[in-house]
This record gives sequence, structure tokens and C-alpha cells, in this order.
Amino acid sequence: MEKVKCLIIGAGPAGYAAAIYAARAGLHPVMYTGPQPGGQLMITNDVENYPGYPDGRNGPDMMEDFKKQALRFETDIRNEMITRVDFTGPVHKVWTEGGNMVEAHTVIIATGASAKWLGIPGEDRLQNLGVSACAVCDGFFFRKQEVAIVGGGDTAAEESTYLAKICKTVHLLVRRDEMRASKIMQERVLNTPNLVVHWNTSPEEVIGVDGVTGVRIRNNKTQESLILPVTGFFVAIGHKPNTDIFDGWLDRDESGYLVAAQPGRTFTKIPGVFVSGDAQDKIYRQAVTAAGTGCMAALDAERYLVEKGV
Ligand code: NDP
Repeated sequence: MEKVKCLIIGAGPAGYAAAIYAARAGLHPVMYTGPQPGGQLMITNDVENYPGYPDGRNGPDMMEDFKKQALRFETDIRNEMITRVDFTGPVHKVWTEGGNMVEAHTVIIATGASAKWLGIPGEDRLQNLGVSACAVCDGFFFRKQEVAIVGGGDTAAEESTYLAKICKTVHLLVRRDEMRASKIMQERVLNTPNLVVHWNTSPEEVIGVDGVTGVRIRNNKTQESLILPVTGFFVAIGHKPNTDIFDGWLDRDESGYLVAAQPGRTFTKIPGVFVSGDAQDKIYRQAVTAAGTGCMAALDAERYLVEKGV
């Protein structure tokens, strides 16, 4: 039976940063990439806000860089999914989709989160061609342009006010006659002059061939339909952390995000199990913050192994 010092689940910025640190510390990490190696950056065009890339970098290319760096220090990267865990301990067990069981002294969780999508015509086809689920990542490409964003929670409120600083006009599409967002965020939305809130409104189709040229919206009360002439369409209806396999083992909040044993740390109530990246972060959700927490998790895992004398 295979027994490893450090097993990393997930291959986004958090997983790769954890791998680089763990490998350089001599932990010989084994990484299971999961279904989308590279994580959410694989569906991002240019990343211009990751420090160290003065000219920006295409998302998939950046993840290739992360991978190369992890391989340089001999991370054992396996393109398989982990489907089950047993954290009874002291040595933890994980099972791959192929049914293999691996034992690990430490497990670093970096399974990330997935943006929720609407499933309307044009949305999938025009991803990276004007459709985005991250205003902070992609808003800059629409400076001085007219864009629409859908959602009524804190993310939509925050991202719409962020976009309003960059774009000419922002149309916020809220499906009910009220927002779910906190009061203070709603006030910010309503006090932003170039942010137009469309209440009781749902997008029905994203229009465009090589790029977004508009979005067809419908008023849910009057059934009136019209086309907003936007070049960017942002979806901010929430994320789903990829944490279902840890249910029953680790604490999760009401939205499913993993909760560390102490705020700002990576260790959990299970000794030897550490959390990092978007699987435990619903506030910042940036590649650079995910990489930062991946680094923290690897440092914590290393210290744990030293204390245990492994
Ligand atoms: P939420 O689940 O809170 O909100 C999702 C929003 O999207 C809701 O308004 C919902 O509408 C709307 N929505 C869902 N599905 C559709 C659909 N198919 N069509 C149109 N609209 C849809 O997600 P958030 O990402 O906004 O927030 C997640 C958590 O993170 C929250 O706890 C939030 O407070 C927190 N957060 C905190 C921040 C901060 O403190 N700075 C920043 C960002 C998030 P409806 O209301 O009708 O259900």
C-alpha cells in the first residue's frame, strides 16, 4: 500500500503553490489534479493582476508555468480525481476514482470553487469572448464600455460597483424586486450614478458572434423584453466550493466553504489536514490569495510532520 508524507488535492494556484513549497521542503508531495487541472484560471483569458507578470499572462499558460515549477522540484502529479476520504487518522486515507487507496500523513485540500452559470443561450459559447464570472479579473478589458452583470448578492453588489469605476455604464440585472446583498453594499450600488439597476429582470440570451454585442433581458413582471447593447456580460450568482467529499469530516459553513480551526490559519480540527484556496475563501477568491494560502498550508504541513517526527 502506498503511503506518502504529503498529498495535495487540487491543481489550481493553491495546489501548485503548496506543491512547490512542500517539494522544496523535501516532503515529496503527490498531487491529484481533479477534473479541471489548473482550476478556474483555465477559463480566464489574460491575467494582469498576478504580481511578477508585468505583461500579463494567459490563464492556461500561467497554470502551465505553475505546473512546470512544481515539476521542477519533482512533485508527483497525477491526473486523477479523489472521490472519497477517511480522516479517522492518525494516517489519512484517500481513494482515487480508479479505486486506489493512498495513505497520507498530511493532506492539503486545494479543491477550489466553481462559478455558477445561468445556462442561457450564448453564455457558454461566448465565455472569454465577453462573458466572464470574475469582474476583478476581466473588468479592465471593458473600460469605458457598457456592460451588464447579473446577481443580487454581495458578490454582484461588489463587482458591479467595481465595474462602475472602470466602465461607462453598468446594468445590474436583479431577478427579484429586492437584493439579497447586505444593506451597506446595496446603498453603494444605489448611490453609484453610472450603475443602472434593472429590478425583476432576467437575462435570456447573450448575443454575439466573435464577441458579446448585447444581452436580451426580460422583465419578469411585465414580460417586456429588450436588448441591452453591452460588450461585456458578467455572471455573479454565486460560487460552489468543491468540498462535498469532505462533508462529515471537516467543518463547512452554510455555503459549503471549509472552515479552518482558527481564522487566518490552514489547520483544521483533524490533525494533519489543511485547507487552502477558494475551497475555504468566499471573500477574496483571487489567484494570488489562493497561492498564498497554498504556501501557508504547505508550511503548516511541514511543521506538523516535524512535530510528529515523520
Ligand atoms: P449569494 O448566494 O449570496 O447570492 C447569489 C445571488 O444571485 C442572489 O441574489 C440570487 O438571487 C442570484 N441568482 C442566483 N441564481 C440566479 C439566476 N439563475 N438568475 C438570476 N439571479 C440569480 O452569492 P454571492 O456570491 O453574492 O455571495 C456568497 C457569500 O459570500 C455570501 O454569504 C456573501 O455575503 C459573501 N460575500 C461577502 C463579501 C464581502 O463581505 N465583501 C463579498 C462577496 C461575497 P435571489 O436573491 O433571488 O436568490
